[in-house]
Amino acid sequence: MSAVKKRKEKFQKELEFSRREFLGGAGILAASAALVNLKGMRGEARAANEITAQLPERYGSAHINYVPATEKNLGTTRIVGPIKQRRQAEDGFFRAVSGEFGEQSARNYFFHFVNKHPLSHALFKTLGHMAADNVVGGEPAPEKLPIPDPERMSRHIKELGFFLRADDVGIGVMQHHASYSERFLAHPTPEGKIDISTPVEDNSHHKYVIAVLIDQDLRTMLGSTGYDGISASQSFRSYATSGFIAVIMADYIRMLGYNARAHHAENYNMILAPNLIAAGMGEHSRACDCVMHPRLGYRTKAAVVSTDLPLVPDTPIDFGGMEFCRRCKKCAEECPSKALSFETEQSEYNGYMCWPGDMAKCTLFRINNPQGVSCGRCMKVCPWNNKEDSFIHSGGLQLAGRVPGADGLLKDVDDMLGYGTEQIEEFKWWLDWPEMYK
Ligand code: SF4
Ligand code: SF4
Repeated sequence: MSAVKKRKEKFQKELEFSRREFLGGAGILAASAALVNLKGMRGEARAANEITAQLPERYGSAHINYVPATEKNLGTTRIVGPIKQRRQAEDGFFRAVSGEFGEQSARNYFFHFVNKHPLSHALFKTLGHMAADNVVGGEPAPEKLPIPDPERMSRHIKELGFFLRADDVGIGVMQHHASYSERFLAHPTPEGKIDISTPVEDNSHHKYVIAVLIDQDLRTMLGSTGYDGISASQSFRSYATSGFIAVIMADYIRMLGYNARAHHAENYNMILAPNLIAAGMGEHSRACDCVMHPRLGYRTKAAVVSTDLPLVPDTPIDFGGMEFCRRCKKCAEECPSKALSFETEQSEYNGYMCWPGDMAKCTLFRINNPQGVSCGRCMKVCPWNNKEDSFIHSGGLQLAGRVPGADGLLKDVDDMLGYGTEQIEEFKWWLDWPEMYK
């Protein structure tokens, strides 16, 4: 029997299991709760998330509540103290580059890491060609296009994102506290590193961010361990594609006479997570700065455009993701460097409540990974990321967002069915180049 056929049969059995055992018990409860919730939900004011253009299945089967941002919360993320603007040099990879984790790790960042695999090297290099300040930004055309209807413009901008092949596009109010105070510029030299921090340009007149998400590809992820040869390519394929879209979008907006600046992995002025949340792209996950999308999990990479173009912003969302993380902990269990928190309760990190991880451990593993190139094991195993287009996953998502206590059960079901940790050989299309990992 072919492996694909086996896989099909396995899936069929799971489906039968899910119908008989799963929906037979908790599903009845969920259905009743869903009906009650649905009644309540429909009366809520429609947010821009609903009235602007979007993929028909934008949020998949997840049940969404809209959560207006206040001083005390950004979506489901609680804000408990002053949020300090960060220097980019404080981020994990830049700490490694500047030698904080030893000379070998600084060297590996430049000469091994992404550059170990020919494909991630090519993607990284290509994104680098789009990184110059005069590519991500520039002066707008002298004459502004009149925009009498910002809602129509918002719809148009989202359609543009989808036309350019984004997997989701959202618009948010720009979170200025998430802008870096300084950017880190580093150039590789055989002797070590050059550390130049430079002030970021003033984007305080940019009122909105347009967030562009690219899926890292379910099939590829299912064929991978999460930390083998394809991992950095999955990241950089999505960084490069979202960067490509953001650069074009920003240039287009400048041609309309408005200020716009693309921010992508090779030239950011800001931390993306708060801006993604503001744009209705998901909730903070246990993997701290990673934002979980209701349909794609955090199997995504993003770029954003900051702009003063008149738009109507989306609203942050609650799909039960953060609550699910409270019990799940699967990413922490599977992380090869044990970088993620096992705590049930969140703690404060720079004014936010989250699950702060040990980013030094994560960075060191990704840079020096002897078995592959970088790592995305946490992303691979997350139950929100391992969705197939099936009845069981749709039912599970409905349960997770609506029924208190269903998260623990769903995580157990996910484990029982072997989701996340499985590695399907037929899906492995890439060459591992193991000789280059040495
Ligand atoms: S990327 Fe890998 S090392 Fe880092 S937190 Fe995720 S699983 Fe752990
Ligand atoms: S694996 Fe579980 S705990 Fe980790 S981010 Fe995903 S849902 Fe949250």
